[in-house]
Amino acid sequence: MISNTSDMPFGPGSVAERMHDIREAARVVSEGFSRAYMRECIDQHRFPQEIWETLGEYGLLGISIPEDLGGSGGGQVELVALMEALAEAGLVLPMLLLTGFARVPIIRHGTPEQIERFVKPTISGTEKLCFAITEPDAGTNSFAMSSLATREGDGYRLTGRKVFISGAADANRMLVVARTQKVGEVGRRTEGMSLFVVDTDAPGVQLQPLNIDVGWPERQYLVFFDEVRLDADRLIGLPGQGLAGMFEALNSERLLVTAMSVGLGNYALKKAVAYANERKPFGVPIGGYQALQHRLAEAKAELEAARLMMIQAAATFDAGGNAGAHANMAKLLGSRAAVKAVEAALQTHGGYGFDRDYDIITLWPSVRLMEIAPINNEMLLNYIGEHVLGLPKSY
Ligand SMILES: Cc1cc2nc3c(=O)[nH]c(=O)nc-3n(C[C@H](O)[C@H](O)[C@H](O)COP(=O)(O)OP(=O)(O)OC[C@H]3O[C@@H](n4cnc5c(N)ncnc54)[C@H](O)[C@@H]3O)c2cc1C
Repeated sequence: MISNTSDMPFGPGSVAERMHDIREAARVVSEGFSRAYMRECIDQHRFPQEIWETLGEYGLLGISIPEDLGGSGGGQVELVALMEALAEAGLVLPMLLLTGFARVPIIRHGTPEQIERFVKPTISGTEKLCFAITEPDAGTNSFAMSSLATREGDGYRLTGRKVFISGAADANRMLVVARTQKVGEVGRRTEGMSLFVVDTDAPGVQLQPLNIDVGWPERQYLVFFDEVRLDADRLIGLPGQGLAGMFEALNSERLLVTAMSVGLGNYALKKAVAYANERKPFGVPIGGYQALQHRLAEAKAELEAARLMMIQAAATFDAGGNAGAHANMAKLLGSRAAVKAVEAALQTHGGYGFDRDYDIITLWPSVRLMEIAPINNEMLLNYIGEHVLGLPKSY
């Protein structure tokens, strides 16, 4: 199946070469960890520490961190290649996504000391990062958030609540988006947002697990910040000007979610094709029926379209360009294509598709989720309508 880069222009430093090398490394790692191992972690909500450590040993957790900072170099292109290749093997690693994109604003806007302290330990895998922006009342409307960090001496005190925070109990620190000015105190709602690095076990931080099961090893948490003391070095960038860093992180997140969607979609398709070539209720393989074959083919075409858009956006991101529109479009297309692929795989498997041992229905929550989180597709369409097409804001 096409999901490598052999069909793209290949040469020294080309995107195809950058992805190829990472895919090779990911293949070696994934050979050591079965989907059964992953399912066990998912079913028990146990962090897949063994894969994490192996990724660290291979230097794969250092991807997207410049070599002069102790990382493995590369950028979003390499990171999406890794995420996609692991998902294609059925290995679902949201923590890779979370740590991967939460580091972006720290590297771009943090001081050398902050990078040393908050980013470096993630390269070996000794520390992990999660990300907290969503609030119970604000939901999709992040600018309506009320978590507030008020100045205290040379630092801050953070009070508020975040919800759905993935992996908060597994991570050592979380990148928190909070207001340092209330909505009423700023001219525009986009102002007054700041980024903080908060230890997940800091005094005043409380984690309450939610009863959510989306086929990820990590749980989601309601996180309470009760007057959490933050030293000055916990603020990334300038106070009240966290918007740029926030969107850099979110664009990276969208690309990584696309990579996970495309990888899982291809994982489902591969299983469906194998089954469709074997299953013969009327004496011939069901894969020969156009009703099924076209459904699988359509899903494949849409996965590839999303993948190419993702690669384009990742390359733009790495070159310092504005990847926003293509990152949003890639996430929209990728999440839809993954749902389509799992749907087609489910249809192909008939009744067996609902048997968890066939590992098709088990993929459903994780791919369907990606149409809703980290940002729902309606908001992406709103963005395209307003910012790409120039239509009036619709909400
Ligand atoms: C498993 C899981 C993991 C998550 N992990 C994290 C995490 O690690 N960190 C974090 O900060 N957050 C996380 N989230 C939160 C996630 O990003 C939010 O759930 C998502 O942004 C939507 O917010 P909401 O659930 O409050 O939906 P709401 O804002 O209540 O929206 C509900 C629905 O209304 C529609 N809608 C809303 N606004 C609009 C609009 N303007 N135009 C058109 N339609 C609209 C959409 O269909 C949307 O699905 C996670 C969520 C889940 C379920």
